[in-house]
Amino acid sequence: MELDKMDENDWKYHGEGNKSIVVSHLRHCQVLRLLKVPSEDSAHTRQTAEQTLRHILNIMDYSKHVMKPLLGEKYVHSGEVVRLPLDFLRQMSLKVQQERPELRCDKVMDTFSGCGLCLPDLTQLPLHHLRDHRPPICVEIKPKCGFLPFSRHMTKECKWKVCRFCMHQHYKLANGKWKRLSRYCPLDLFSGSKQRMYVALKNLLEEPQNNLKIFKGGELIFSCKDDAKQQPDLNNLIQHLRPYFPHTNGLYNGHQPGKVILNEFIQVICSALLSGGDSNRSGEPRKMHLSESKPHCEASPFPRDLIRNGHHGLPKDSVLAKILQVQMLDNLDIEGIYPLYKRVEQYLEEFPKERIRLQIDGPYDESFMDTVKSCLNEDDGSVEYAIGKVHQYRVAMTAKDCSVMITFAPCEEDEEHKLNLEKPRFTYSVSILDLDTKPYEGIPHQYKLDSKIVNYYLRSTQAPP
Ligand code: ATP
Ligand code: MG
Ligand code: MG
Repeated sequence: MELDKMDENDWKYHGEGNKSIVVSHLRHCQVLRLLKVPSEDSAHTRQTAEQTLRHILNIMDYSKHVMKPLLGEKYVHSGEVVRLPLDFLRQMSLKVQQERPELRCDKVMDTFSGCGLCLPDLTQLPLHHLRDHRPPICVEIKPKCGFLPFSRHMTKECKWKVCRFCMHQHYKLANGKWKRLSRYCPLDLFSGSKQRMYVALKNLLEEPQNNLKIFKGGELIFSCKDDAKQQPDLNNLIQHLRPYFPHTNGLYNGHQPGKVILNEFIQVICSALLSGGDSNRSGEPRKMHLSESKPHCEASPFPRDLIRNGHHGLPKDSVLAKILQVQMLDNLDIEGIYPLYKRVEQYLEEFPKERIRLQIDGPYDESFMDTVKSCLNEDDGSVEYAIGKVHQYRVAMTAKDCSVMITFAPCEEDEEHKLNLEKPRFTYSVSILDLDTKPYEGIPHQYKLDSKIVNYYLRSTQAPP
């Protein structure tokens, strides 16, 4: 990318989360991830330009040196930090403003730090358009925590039985964040069982909230509505998907063809999630098994009598197995972490300079990674044990909040497929994104939030009649 040639007309609004705004290039398969800052007075913002730059560098280091080794080279694209002209950023900020959803406008784009992250556009498959006229479809899933916690530090029994996502739904509904409960349960998606994964994905399609987005040729075609009362438009999605599943026309004429298309679509997503990351691999994969935690959430709508005994298990190299493994670094639960956080805080009160040696605010390098990997299993009362577990917890939190992108497109058309009789074949690629650090300072908030969610769940579901 050439600094002096940056032109806001080459870029368009692509999407955003809580922390960043993403713009995509009109011709190249590239995006810029630009951080968001509170929309208060600009004096405050200006003051933090230096910190914003530090923060972006930290995000990239963390992705490169911590998350990539843990999740696997092939799934993670750390990108690079790029210097951007302030004028470009100001123009870009004006340009995207009108596209932004209202509910995200409590923050504004950072136009002071003069930098951003440049990443490949994962909603696209490079060079694909040369081979087929149908643009790639990309499914973005934010799967959230895929296991039931199993820590002896937990004080409420329901945490052993009902997963965090399902409990959190009740709290979010009560606080007006969403208007309907999602029936999606992460434990079904992470089960490795095709039936349960199918149900999980179907429930995501019916109530995507911020856990599902679908793109076609890099354009968002399906997501939750800005107006929370509106249902997602599945019929419109089916129209988009129809050309990708032409064989369904002949085979199921008259029999709710829309349903057949969605069914096939879900199966493509499932196979990609169970694969080793791209469509050019084969062989029977080894399975990953959860040993300590219960495999089923009691709040999931999946019928319990249909769950076979034991774990189906995810293929060891699959994207979900990788994410789950990192999520499970949180083996003490926030209730076990909070006292360790306080131990660290107490220590820092006495020895404030130790904050640097303990790498609380980074740098996120090999040495940070060593602390994460070599943390003791037993608490020996030391601050080293405490900080090791706190680091592990933060890494796990990143994995509980990341997104998976599955991008697929029809394979080259050959004579056989032109007859539209066979099931279509797809080429796909799977990646993990949004691997930001979770702040050390956020731990007390997480502790309080956990107790609010659990208490609210108990009150709302177990109230006496
Ligand atoms: P969250 O609130 O989920 O933490 P965030 O603010 O950290 O989100 P991201 O999730 O990284 O930001 O990016 C916001 C959105 O931009 C994503 O949901 C995704 O749709 C899109 N996006 C991000 N990175 C890429 C990429 N490399 N290629 C294509 N789209 C991307
Ligand atoms: Mg995100
Ligand atoms: Mg994020």
